[in-house]
Amino acid sequence: MSNLDLSPTPTRCGGNRHTGPVRELQAGKQVPLGESTVVRRLLPNLGRRMVGAWCFVDHYGPDNIADEPGMQVPPHPHMGLQTVSWLRAGEVLHRDSLGSLQTVRPGELGLMTAGRAIAHSEESPRPHPALHGAQLWVALPAAHRATAPTFEHHADLPVVTGGGGLRATVILGELAGAASPGTAYTPLVGADLTLAPGTDARLPLDPDFEYAALTVSGAPEVDGVPLTPGSLLYLGCGRTDLPLRATEAGNLLLLGGEPFEEEIVMWWNFVGRTGDEIAAARAAWNAGGDGFGTVHGYAGDRLLAPELPPVPLKPRGRAR
Ligand code: MN
Repeated sequence: MSNLDLSPTPTRCGGNRHTGPVRELQAGKQVPLGESTVVRRLLPNLGRRMVGAWCFVDHYGPDNIADEPGMQVPPHPHMGLQTVSWLRAGEVLHRDSLGSLQTVRPGELGLMTAGRAIAHSEESPRPHPALHGAQLWVALPAAHRATAPTFEHHADLPVVTGGGGLRATVILGELAGAASPGTAYTPLVGADLTLAPGTDARLPLDPDFEYAALTVSGAPEVDGVPLTPGSLLYLGCGRTDLPLRATEAGNLLLLGGEPFEEEIVMWWNFVGRTGDEIAAARAAWNAGGDGFGTVHGYAGDRLLAPELPPVPLKPRGRAR
């Protein structure tokens, strides 16, 4: 997915202000994505920029797109981050400049490590009756941010059944001793939590991680807070477990990780460390994409980067 905002605001992340357990409700922002899709952007938002190394969270759908173009995101670049495609319904066809051509289906992990540079496109295959999922970005730490780009597809992910009606699929990182096969570069977790009707469970957590829960469907209660779809509850650090309850069936995304200590600059589809580095990546892409490679097979032009903001891009901390 690309940030299609025509004037994306630079986002500061990183820093080392740790919190204990909190319950901080973050309202999402409605952002148009292409012609017919509106997504809810949960990170970055007004109150918080990162959760662990997770630095970008869009939740979309459930949308009936039978008579719509669905997701049509032309070739665009990334740098310094990983993208995680996670679907509850529908399919996304991924193409990238490494030559990958992969359909990502519900319950499967599409993990693209941009490293120093990659380009990709994403489209809803036809026919495409529904679309519901999340697009997540993970900031790469300094030691790995210039790594060679890769694409991984994992259809077989570990499942943790915690009892009490809870079922957790580990998308990336580790949860309760189960590890995703996806390559992670910082200690973190992304998990899909399915709550059966009547769930009353406690999910074991790592007290060194900070966490947030995004409600995807239903009306689950997270640590006593009733949530509606499209909202993100920031949970802070220092928790050994998380109480989860649901009357009806529900679905959550749990995101967590060690607080990301480095300050980063995030602008458009790039994560860097300085404004100059971001400006150089933008110029290289708009001049023809040298270094990012070419995406073959997408029916349409590539996306050009918007203008840089008039103020210099500065590195920022992880919270505001
Ligand atoms: Mn993208």
